[in-house]
Amino acid sequence: MHYKSTRGQVAGVGFIDAILMGLADDGGLLVPEHIPQVSAETLKNWQSLSYAELATEVFSLFVNDEIPRSDLEKLVQDSYGTFRHPDVTPVRKVRDDLHIMELFHGPTFAFKDVALQFLGNLYSYVSRKTGSVIHILGATSGDTGASAIEGVRGKEGIRICILHPHQKVSKVQELQMTTVDNENVLNLAVNGTFDDCQRIIKELFADVDFKHQYHLRAINSINIARILAQTVYYFYAYLQLAQQGMTGKLNFSVPTGNFGDIFAGYLAQRMGLPIHKLILATNENNILERFVNEGVYQPGEFRGTYSPSMDIQVASNFERYLFYLYGENTAEVATLMELLKAEGKIVIPEDKRTAVNAEFAAHAVENDECLAVISKYYDEYDYLLDPHTACGVAASDGLTSADEVTVTLSTAHPAKFNEAIALCEIKQTYPEQIEALFSKPQHQTIVDGTNEAVRDKLVQFF
Ligand SMILES: *Cc1c(COP(=O)(O)O)cnc(C)c1O
Repeated sequence: MHYKSTRGQVAGVGFIDAILMGLADDGGLLVPEHIPQVSAETLKNWQSLSYAELATEVFSLFVNDEIPRSDLEKLVQDSYGTFRHPDVTPVRKVRDDLHIMELFHGPTFAFKDVALQFLGNLYSYVSRKTGSVIHILGATSGDTGASAIEGVRGKEGIRICILHPHQKVSKVQELQMTTVDNENVLNLAVNGTFDDCQRIIKELFADVDFKHQYHLRAINSINIARILAQTVYYFYAYLQLAQQGMTGKLNFSVPTGNFGDIFAGYLAQRMGLPIHKLILATNENNILERFVNEGVYQPGEFRGTYSPSMDIQVASNFERYLFYLYGENTAEVATLMELLKAEGKIVIPEDKRTAVNAEFAAHAVENDECLAVISKYYDEYDYLLDPHTACGVAASDGLTSADEVTVTLSTAHPAKFNEAIALCEIKQTYPEQIEALFSKPQHQTIVDGTNEAVRDKLVQFF
């Protein structure tokens, strides 16, 4: 399998190079040169596979010969052996029409572990195989940083530096990052906001000499490996329900920020997985809900919500969907992205809107509704939702028709976001792994929010 850019100036890139490239060199995003097809018969044959076996099958469709099968099996085993649940991403029935797929059984209790455990091992594999040094640089508003650090801590050939806004991430997120004591991890707590962190990262990556000299690699959600890893659990949920005899219309409801997770579902659907509707759930930062319901993609004003990992105004994976919506026409995608830059919005014509609405339904969840849903499911079903998952459940409740079943993706454990849970006057007990963080020493370096200050620290570290 080779990969090409959504903007048409990069093509013929192998799997490993696609992982290393991150953003395509023409500014677009990498997509597979063709989408592998999974037949109904293959799906049937996959029914009895474990999560790791299924992941190996799905990955091998995208990797081809670049990684030998036995190496791939080991990568997958190492990545998913760290999960606390034997099913990795178990699906729980809450009601006949609502199942919840719990994606938070990895080391940092958020769904990002599913992709970043794999990406961490993959980077380590590439480093060993090619003898190259890998230096990961990233910015986080909380979950990605913790997951990425956990994915590579202590691994040979890799060093990682993560910037987070000092004292502006949740307490548990801060502790998950800063209590790691491996010498290949550097936490920079930046005096500033998440936007400052992202700006600094962007500038450092844009300095091509610096980027090459220090072998800088990215871990953000535009990396194609992250999408592929997330595609696996859509198949897994379908197969689990099929095994239980479910044959009706199956929807997935996805708490959405950067459009990475739901794009993985879209990819699974295009590979042949019978998904009826993809339900896109946003919080009050509803650019994607407005796109689905009004046909306009236009960043709005930033709103702070109870689901901070979805507080996003520009969805970095959205371009991948545009590419398929416009029939893989790279020239049109490039024009649309230019338009977005020049005019601040993209408006799609009526026929495209019809196509979007055949694939997606969307609901934007307001802050009050989010808390109401957490309380309701705690009282009525004895199930504690985290505020991100609550957005997914709210959308599922509003958009699942009588003859359908919806699997809502649970993207985080409620212990990570106790701030919202406490507002519902619910007292939760933390899992022991999270409780233990509070008594560990923290390792972080506080820096000014300037390019130079961060660069100085990086040069010492790398
Ligand atoms: C990152 C994240 C999301 C959003 O996922 P995207 O792939 O960016 O759409 C939702 N919930 C939680 C808890 C997250 O960490």
